[in-house]
Parts: sequence; structure tokens; C-alpha cells
Amino acid sequence: MSSNEFFQRWLAPDKGRLWLVATVVGVRPECSDATTLRLELPVPADFVAGQYYLVRMRIDGAPGVVEQAYSVSSSPWPPSSKIEITIREIPDGRASPLLARQVGEGDQIHLHGPFGSLTWNEADGGPLLMIGAGSGAAPFASIVRFASARHSTVPMALLCSSRDRASILFREPLEELDRCQDQLSVIHTFTRSPRDLSAHFHRRIDASMINEVIGKLSSWDPAPLSLLIAGPLEMVASARQACQALGIEGGRINYELHA
Ligand SMILES: Cc1cc2nc3c(=O)[nH]c(=O)nc-3n(C[C@H](O)[C@H](O)[C@H](O)COP(=O)(O)OP(=O)(O)OC[C@H]3O[C@@H](n4cnc5c(N)ncnc54)[C@H](O)[C@@H]3O)c2cc1C
Repeated sequence: MSSNEFFQRWLAPDKGRLWLVATVVGVRPECSDATTLRLELPVPADFVAGQYYLVRMRIDGAPGVVEQAYSVSSSPWPPSSKIEITIREIPDGRASPLLARQVGEGDQIHLHGPFGSLTWNEADGGPLLMIGAGSGAAPFASIVRFASARHSTVPMALLCSSRDRASILFREPLEELDRCQDQLSVIHTFTRSPRDLSAHFHRRIDASMINEVIGKLSSWDPAPLSLLIAGPLEMVASARQACQALGIEGGRINYELHA
């Protein structure tokens, strides 16, 4: 097959944009309200840890097609044609309940991408502080997994805000990486489970919490840190404000809204 024939096969007639037809090769529950889909792409996946794809689908009762963004939660290393995306179900949403509950192995999903600049690569160095809430943990799972796969020694901390223990995204894999990697610290805050002592904090992310986590990172490496923030608008806005109040320059803060 010529390369032109190959791409014609995967080019959906949509404004000339290239949509990859990926096949679902695995489905697993990730936490109480999220599901991870393992997708096989028709070409090697070529993304940087932290990037996302647009997912397109036709939904019964909805006009046209729905496109939503989903971060890759798996590592780009070692190279592979398989990626994972993790969908947190929004009960009244159009796309997420379908993707989280009704997609099965063998189904095909249209993807466009990758996109996004909320990324980390080895050349970026560190120390690195990642702050995530809700689906904002997904790009950071990719970054932490990538750093581990590359045996990186860059100090990293991931501050995750969840309602409670059952709704932590990637709890087991992140806890495992935290145990095995001296330079990684995964820190949880619960917003609705005040008595669960498996979290370090029990409130929304604020300046004093960020300062405490920065103190831990700085004790490993006093170099100026970089910050990545992802999640719902309210959390991203307050975390950015908190960082700026702590004197962290805007240029060192990169963020992504997940709504
Ligand atoms: C760059 C980027 C990366 C993203 N990565 C992920 C990811 O890895 N995993 C993931 O699950 N989602 C991710 N999202 C969010 C995702 O794109 C969808 O917005 C989400 O799945 C809801 O889509 P829906 O069609 O189900 O809801 P919609 O039909 O669009 O919305 C239904 C209702 O839910 C509200 N709503 C929409 N999104 C959210 C939200 N995130 N939280 C709370 N309420 C919401 C809307 O205001 C509306 O009231 C990402 C978004 C962006 C922009």
C-alpha cells in the first residue's frame, strides 16, 4: 500500500483534518467514576508526555458529531502504537458517559492530535511541581510514568486534589511509583473526606499547601522549580493565584483547563 493510500484510508472527510481510527484493545476501571481505554493506533503514537487528543463521536440524539479532548495517561516511552486515555464520567455529559461505560474492546474511536503544551520532556529538567484536580491528573500520570520509564532523576512532586480516596485517579500506579522512586512524591488532598488519614491534606488546594509541597521539593533541589497545573477552571485559577502570591513568576507556570 502506498503512503498516500494508507493516509486516505484514515482521512475522514472532515475539513481535511486527519482523524486516526483507533481500535479499543483494553478497558479497565480506574477509580469510582473513571475508566481507562487502551487504544491501538494505525501508526506509532508520536506524542510528548502531557499532550492530549481530540476524540470524535456521533451521539444518538445529538446533532452532528461531538469532539472532546482527552489527555494521554500512558507514557510515550517505550515507543508504541498503543496509548491510554482515561475518562472521568460527567453524569449529564454527552461524551464522557458513553466513553466511560459503553465502549468495549474491538470498538473504533476517531482521534485527532496530539495537541497541547502542558508537557514535560527530559530536556526540561526540574524540579517540577504538578498540581492536578479531577481529570487534571491524567497528563501528570503520563509525565510521571514517562520520567520513570526513562529512569529520570529529576525531582518531581504531584499534588492531587480528589473528593475522597475512591475517586483518586491512578491511585495504585501512582502509589507504586511513589514507593519506588526516591525523587518522586505524590501528595493527596481530599476535599470531602476529612477523616481519611491516607491523604496529607483535607481541604482545597491553597497557598500554604503549595508552599509546604514546594518546601519538600526544594529540600531535594533548591533550583527554581517549574509548575504545571491542570483541572477545572476554579482550581486552576486559585492555584495560579496562590503560586503568584508565593512569588513564583508567571513564566514558570504552565496550565491547562479541563472543562
Ligand atoms: C486539554 C483538555 C484535556 C482533557 N483531558 C481529559 C481527560 O484526560 N479525562 C477526562 O475525563 N476529561 C478530560 N477533559 C475534559 C473533556 O474534554 C470533556 O470536557 C469532559 O469529558 C466532559 O465531556 P462531556 O461531553 O461528557 O460533557 P458536556 O456534554 O460537554 O458537558 C455536560 C455538563 O458537564 C459540565 N462539564 C463539562 N466538562 C466538565 C468537567 N471536566 N468537570 C465538571 N463538569 C464538566 C458542563 O459544564 C455541562 O454542564 C479534558 C479537557 C481539555 C480541554
